[in-house]
Amino acid sequence: MSEPGKPLACGACEFDMQCFSGNAGCRVSRRAKQDEVLAGYEAAEMRDMSVNAACLEAQGYKIWDRAYETADFARRMGYQHLGLAFCASVAAEAGMYQRFLEDRGFRVTSVMCKTGAILKEDLLGLNDEQKVRPGCVEPMCNPIAQAALLAEAGVDLNVVMALCVGHDSIFFAHAKGPITVLVAKDRVYDHQPIKAIRLRDAGEITPEPQQKRTPEQIEQNKRAVFRSPAPRR
Ligand code: SF4
Repeated sequence: MSEPGKPLACGACEFDMQCFSGNAGCRVSRRAKQDEVLAGYEAAEMRDMSVNAACLEAQGYKIWDRAYETADFARRMGYQHLGLAFCASVAAEAGMYQRFLEDRGFRVTSVMCKTGAILKEDLLGLNDEQKVRPGCVEPMCNPIAQAALLAEAGVDLNVVMALCVGHDSIFFAHAKGPITVLVAKDRVYDHQPIKAIRLRDAGEITPEPQQKRTPEQIEQNKRAVFRSPAPRR
């Protein structure tokens, strides 16, 4: 039933989202490859994940926050060892979340983005102007190492906290086992990228943001302080 040339576009639904009411009559639903995809849910782990995700959704709908849901999903799945792949900008929060998980009986392995301390100049060949903080020591984000260290530790679930766009793609490509995103990085909107989507659509922010950093902004970047995780009390 393929209709070449016509892209699937649920993002521009012409059918009032009738799939949401159980009606599979629209063009996209008819092409949903049911025979192929339903078989995918027969694998025990996929079935367990689907059932647990659905039950969690129902029980906590608009009651539970995502950080709590992540722990609850892990508990339902029987995962005991969780891996946090986090960005330096949320190091303090990663520490808080690690303590929250440990208090709930999970074993936690956590790895920050700058692990390995490889300088951007050395591996990526970047020049000083291509750094966030020109003139400063600036290690590259190292998502392959984050994925490898969490895999080596044998984590049951990888939890991503605010990895950069692109670095997260590399992490997804190298991580072993299931991955969930707890925090999607957005440096402007306190890690709520959906805010920019809404504001831009409403014309409240410009489609194209400022492209060139000012000297003042560069100086501000140099003064930014990243909070370390607090030691366990
Ligand atoms: S599957 Fe069909 S009805 Fe559902 S959102 Fe996509 S186009 Fe709309």
